[in-house]
Amino acid sequence: MSKKWNIAIVGATGAVGAQMIECLEERDFPVGKIKYLASSRSAGEILEFKGKAVLVEELTHDSFDGIDIALFSAGGERSKEFCPSAAKAGAICIDNSSAWRMDADVPLVVPEVNAHAIAGYKKKGIIANPNCSTIQMVVALKPLHDHAQIKRIVVSTYQAVSGTGKKAIEELRVQVGELLNGRPANTEVYPHQIAFNCLPQIDSFCDNGYTKEEMKMVNETRKIMEADIKVTATAVRIPVFFGHSESINIETAKEISVATAMELIAAAPGCELVDDVAEGIYPMPVDAAGQDFVQVGRIRKDESIENGLNLWVVADNIRKGAATNAVQIAEILIEKYLK
Ligand code: NAP
Repeated sequence: MSKKWNIAIVGATGAVGAQMIECLEERDFPVGKIKYLASSRSAGEILEFKGKAVLVEELTHDSFDGIDIALFSAGGERSKEFCPSAAKAGAICIDNSSAWRMDADVPLVVPEVNAHAIAGYKKKGIIANPNCSTIQMVVALKPLHDHAQIKRIVVSTYQAVSGTGKKAIEELRVQVGELLNGRPANTEVYPHQIAFNCLPQIDSFCDNGYTKEEMKMVNETRKIMEADIKVTATAVRIPVFFGHSESINIETAKEISVATAMELIAAAPGCELVDDVAEGIYPMPVDAAGQDFVQVGRIRKDESIENGLNLWVVADNIRKGAATNAVQIAEILIEKYLK
């Protein structure tokens, strides 16, 4: 019988945690024991794994005895505090928060782009999952970079509320209902009304005028692509439930035709070419939601520079942007490193 692995999901009751459970089930990950961890608020709740009841337990420093792999998605503070305890207990942590991403001793991994970096998990027992917007961008750009060497990226994002978690999904749902019934919209999660609006602020502002989300896209892209690419980003929250969209402009060292870019995207792992403008076909969040491909379309020449392309890239932020990417890392870990 093939080996099975004991898995803990930290943040099992959240938007990403719920998707992680689904991904492990769907992909038939060889799970031995499964442990669901959350705050004291949810401790005692019953969730399921493959039809069997699993009790949600409160996260403590002693939660990781006998755990092989701990999938963390309970916010940066919890990851900072509890990943070292999990690693000390012998669990390898795959962390969805931003806590460890820029740590030089922690690999930051998107399997389609830099799976080899997983080997670096041994230093701290932690592997970081990148920011959702960064993941879909690098999956789409990797084949183009390998072919033509990207020098500069200008990206604007259109990000779904599910990227902020379960409370934000509820905030958009309630605001839409209230406003359509002529009542005022209460705001708790976002600084302004999100229904029928768009907010050019994701996370807090840094001293340089960019938001933390924008700077994550700059710094994480360079770490994952292992290249000195210039990146500038504008991150915008829009009233969509699932699926982040990105308008991406790249400048390359070598010329790359639209036809070649389409061929490369169509052949690239994790990418789906969705580009037939004559038929009105291009990526949209309603189509990308619920599946794992990064959809790429609207590929066209940037006619304002010598070697430039524009693309429109859409993916499910909870799946490929978080849970699927983490489970893919776990799959490589058990196949290549833990056998
Ligand atoms: P969420 O829906 O708000 O869920 C948060 C989870 O964390 C819940 O399970 C919650 O448990 C748990 N939690 C909160 N405080 C805790 C504590 N003190 N101790 C133990 N557990 C605690 O948020 P989410 O969207 O799933 O995001 C979770 C993490 O993933 C964040 O770090 C986020 O940045 C990252 N991430 C999210 C996305 C995305 O697209 N949503 C993408 C990439 C990365 P309770 O039920 O007990 O409150």
